[in-house]
Amino acid sequence: MYNKVDAQFLAGLGKIVGKEQVFTDAPTLDKYKTDEETNPHKFHVPEAVVAPGTTEEVAAVVKLANQANVPVTVRSAGTSLSDGAIAVKGGIVLLMERMHKILEINEAGMYMVVEAGALTKEIQEAAKAKKLLYAGDPCSADSCMIGGNIATNAGGNRAVRYGTTRDQVYQIEVVTPTGEIVNLGARLKKKSTGYCLEQLVMGSEGTLGIITKATLKLLPLPPYRFDLVAVFTDVAKAADMVTKVLKAGIAPTSVEFMDNHFLQSSCQFCELTLPHMQDGNYIIITVETFSEDELDMKMEQLDTLCEENGAVDVLEADDRVWKVRRNCQESLRVISPVSITDDVVVPVDKVADCIKFVEEHGKKYPFKVLTLAHAGDGNLHFCLCKCDLDDATWDTEVAKFHAEVYQYAYALGGRLSGEHGIGAKKLPEMATYTPAGELNLMKEIKKALDPKDILNPGKIFELE
Ligand SMILES: Cc1cc2nc3c(=O)[nH]c(=O)nc-3n(C[C@H](O)[C@H](O)[C@H](O)COP(=O)(O)OP(=O)(O)OC[C@H]3O[C@@H](n4cnc5c(N)ncnc54)[C@H](O)[C@@H]3O)c2cc1C
Repeated sequence: MYNKVDAQFLAGLGKIVGKEQVFTDAPTLDKYKTDEETNPHKFHVPEAVVAPGTTEEVAAVVKLANQANVPVTVRSAGTSLSDGAIAVKGGIVLLMERMHKILEINEAGMYMVVEAGALTKEIQEAAKAKKLLYAGDPCSADSCMIGGNIATNAGGNRAVRYGTTRDQVYQIEVVTPTGEIVNLGARLKKKSTGYCLEQLVMGSEGTLGIITKATLKLLPLPPYRFDLVAVFTDVAKAADMVTKVLKAGIAPTSVEFMDNHFLQSSCQFCELTLPHMQDGNYIIITVETFSEDELDMKMEQLDTLCEENGAVDVLEADDRVWKVRRNCQESLRVISPVSITDDVVVPVDKVADCIKFVEEHGKKYPFKVLTLAHAGDGNLHFCLCKCDLDDATWDTEVAKFHAEVYQYAYALGGRLSGEHGIGAKKLPEMATYTPAGELNLMKEIKKALDPKDILNPGKIFELE
């Protein structure tokens, strides 16, 4: 279907970005064969890698790719957990890392303009230095880039209170799949002026456009905060706590669940010891306020609530607890070289049922199941570790377990992904579980905007 990258195409790329920003050497190509995918069967070595430095260069590369019929896979930091940044159809990988500048922080207008390759962590820190808050906060914030966050509509620890990445964005500059440069959205609180195209591109996983710049919302930084960990020896009681916290009227910033398997693996990975490591399941709750009295009142209220609902201990969650929470995903490496992380999302009032279902049904399978959740927004991560299972058993058993959980989640009103996206990882499941009318509409939009299926093909769905 596509043409191979040839000398003429490479020369064309060189003219656009400079020869030194076009890579075809084996070590570089090998470096970009995967993202956070750990299964070597899923790796694809690209034919070339290109690193543009400006929006105009990105647009020219995309135009050239259209002319030459070569697919383009955009890559920011490559922390995708859904094979999103893997060039599954060959062609080129386009790196955003040279476009990393924070262009403007406007304190009066409370917004920030950044290039898409800016690190999320640097955006958070730059806002904080001005006593403002950029509220997007995926656990990968130390390494991921804002363009990747926008493209996946990343969630994270603060989504309970502030929403996901799409809620933090006013406007994006986008290179369309045919190489035009457009600005979508506006720095407005509200807008009923035609289609909301910026929201269409956000979360489209690099299939409907390459985000090159973004205007981000900033918020007042709440000066008071407490982080609390409620420890439960019973998983069900921990899970049941989530809706109780949400209903208590304390407007938490985070409500995270971490089961004992994850507590142990991440403590081991971080070389830390935490209370109740042997048998505890954690609910971590953050509350932020603008008044000290309000903070004290909410802390007391939560303390009582947790104890009344079966917590064996309620403690301050210091930096160690958050370090362990943030490193859960990374800690899987300690357990198994190959693992899969899922991110089903269910209505918040059903998250406890879903956690219990996964914990219970996971026991039947020959792999290790660890569970974690951005519980306050209904988003569940269950991670399966292959350990020393053979490939065939792993593939069959994972498919069986996934089918069980996905069917259950959909019966609860859930969806396959709450934040990581579909990528190339869940194409069959996307086809199985998405209503035909909805999936067809998505495909028609893709065909209309990207007639040659040049941008990130083989992601979200296959075009016939
Ligand atoms: C340890 C760890 C913790 C994580 N925690 C979270 C979490 O809390 N919440 C969460 O949502 N995710 C989480 N993730 C997943 C991942 O970090 C997010 O999906 C993140 O948004 C990806 O950003 P990235 O810069 O790495 O993008 P990449 O992985 O490079 O790309 C992700 C996808 O976006 C596309 N893309 C990238 N840049 C652009 C662009 N400029 N324009 C258009 N398309 C683009 C790519 O083609 C790909 O499909 C975690 C991952 C890890 C490894």
